[in-house]
Amino acid sequence: MNQNNNFQLEVNHLSIDYKEITALDDISFKLRKGQIGCLLGPSGCGKTTVLRSIAGFETPSAGEIILHNQLMSKAGWSLATEKRRVGMVFQDFALFPHLNVFQNITFGLREATSIDKQQRANELLELVGLANKIKAYPHELSGGQQQRVAIARAMAPRPEILLLDEPFSDIDAEQRQKLVHDIGVIIRQEGITTLLVTHDQLEAFALADQIGVMKNGRMHQWGTGFDLYHKPVDLFVANFVGQGVLLKGTVLDKNRVETELGIIEDGEMPGDLVKGDQALVLIRPDDIIHDDDSPMTAEILEKTFRGAAFLYRLRLPTGSKVLCFAPSHHNHRIGEHIGIRHEIDHLVTFKES
Ligand code: ATP
Repeated sequence: MNQNNNFQLEVNHLSIDYKEITALDDISFKLRKGQIGCLLGPSGCGKTTVLRSIAGFETPSAGEIILHNQLMSKAGWSLATEKRRVGMVFQDFALFPHLNVFQNITFGLREATSIDKQQRANELLELVGLANKIKAYPHELSGGQQQRVAIARAMAPRPEILLLDEPFSDIDAEQRQKLVHDIGVIIRQEGITTLLVTHDQLEAFALADQIGVMKNGRMHQWGTGFDLYHKPVDLFVANFVGQGVLLKGTVLDKNRVETELGIIEDGEMPGDLVKGDQALVLIRPDDIIHDDDSPMTAEILEKTFRGAAFLYRLRLPTGSKVLCFAPSHHNHRIGEHIGIRHEIDHLVTFKES
């Protein structure tokens, strides 16, 4: 077993097989104490299986899981869930309907004195903003309030790790943004290491220190939201995270690619591309600047109002399409030609196969 005191959670080369299905294939990632990690990926890629493995519901076919320097699982063996000190809020883990908020929150504190239970319930309810609901029953609470109680219940015994599987998915959009923000603040305040599964990339960006992008049971990239967006390691991550298009280009030298938008430069060319290679260059909507003074123009094909910005879909003179975020006072009609230029800090290129 590889012990490393710096990490609260270590998942090393984890594989999980269900008969003929390989649900997880050689997954590795680590979280430091108090960090929030998040798993993203298409449906069926294995996100829930990672959480279930850490919770002790699945036994690995290979690899190991170490929590707070203690081996939890290895090939063919896994420590029982109740011995792991994990807190869980899964989609199907509802509150106990016949218990009130106080009883739900203190359910996992059976060993504590009644004074300690009262104190912990009070501090958690204060944190989740429901101090006045201590005697309410779940059916008397909104969906968002129930989720706050569920998270307080999972945090009450101060688990070594908190596992959240799409905890906000049933909450309406209006409540959701505030709930995500508040839960992030509470998790940080409590300093509980957390691993979250979500379908919502903006939620992941808002909450997580580290984000993993998975596909078909494999971890394609584990890194900060910034790195996933600006330095995707492969075409899958480039396409899955954020919005953008891939334009064809010709590599001129170590740090320049020529595209139909002009020459794009960076400090160093990532990957193994050499002069003369054909490359695909990732262009994000924030790389394209609307500029009336630019000689390069593009036709507006579609526009979507995003509050502070419009997202324009543009056709370049060659027929290629790019996206462009423009401040929403730059309000142009579909069919209009507008001036654009590129402002690209990170050159992201892939070999054209
Ligand atoms: P979603 O986003 O739809 O919730 P997910 O990324 O969480 O999906 P998992 O639920 O982890 O995906 O499933 C990963 C793969 O393992 C899927 O192909 C799924 O069908 C399979 N799988 C999960 N549980 C079992 C099981 N008990 N028996 C057989 N196959 C399973």
